[in-house]
Amino acid sequence: MRRVPIYLLVLALLGDGLFAWGPAGHKWIHARALERLPPPLASILGSQREYLVEHAVDPDFWRDTDGEESPRHFIDLDKYGDFPFPQLTLDYEQMLRRFGLEKLKANGLVLWTIPQVMTRLEKAFRAADQHAILRELVALGHYVADLHQPFHAVANYDGQLSRQWGIHGRFEVEVANRILPTLQMRSAQLEEISDPLKASFDIALESFSRVNVILVADWKIVRDLKIDRDSLPRDPEKKFAVYPESYFRLFAARTGPVAAWRMQHAAWAVASFWTQAWNNSRK
Ligand SMILES: [Zn+2]
Repeated sequence: MRRVPIYLLVLALLGDGLFAWGPAGHKWIHARALERLPPPLASILGSQREYLVEHAVDPDFWRDTDGEESPRHFIDLDKYGDFPFPQLTLDYEQMLRRFGLEKLKANGLVLWTIPQVMTRLEKAFRAADQHAILRELVALGHYVADLHQPFHAVANYDGQLSRQWGIHGRFEVEVANRILPTLQMRSAQLEEISDPLKASFDIALESFSRVNVILVADWKIVRDLKIDRDSLPRDPEKKFAVYPESYFRLFAARTGPVAAWRMQHAAWAVASFWTQAWNNSRK
């Protein structure tokens, strides 16, 4: 199944007990976003705080029952040519005519999903439909947060094209586990999201720009520690290679700042998208 990190498949089978950064990271992002809302919206959503944090990872499990869900979580920018991706335009209809739906789905739809969900959230606010408001807040927050993960914006999404298999999880699980307990927000203004499609593309570009930082860090550490990827022990349940602690200490030191910045920015962006949808609904 495309784009479902192995640890999530295992978790889906085994339940909450093994949840690592996937859920923890999404919950952290929603919790920090909720703290940054303007007072009127904060008071409207105040009683739903716990729900919005606890359900931050739900969209990852919507894939279990919705075959259309998976492409909503990523965009492989470099499937449209090397930067600046000459075959990519933001006009969905034009992309559809050019590539067809199956190709677009295979390369990821998150850029176009985010504006759609934002529109649905505006409608839900207008209708004061509490159920729909919560569902669309969760969806919008999750997709915006996913787009901040560098490996959600690149074809080499798990290091499979550079013999660095499993780097997706090593970055978002192990590195985040090490930085989350002390990760603080820095103050920043919420952004006005006048063009959600363009704003989403800008987030994807920032994510894409950090992929090589993470790949290079992993590659150098493996070289310097003389790690043979093929002979690493395998986790008996999760089946992926188990890297030594010496690797993770260096990997977290070198890529932790990237993870911290992406998660902090994700919280600001989620707060900005939620607030913009609410503002739009009152016009
Ligand atoms: Zn996701």
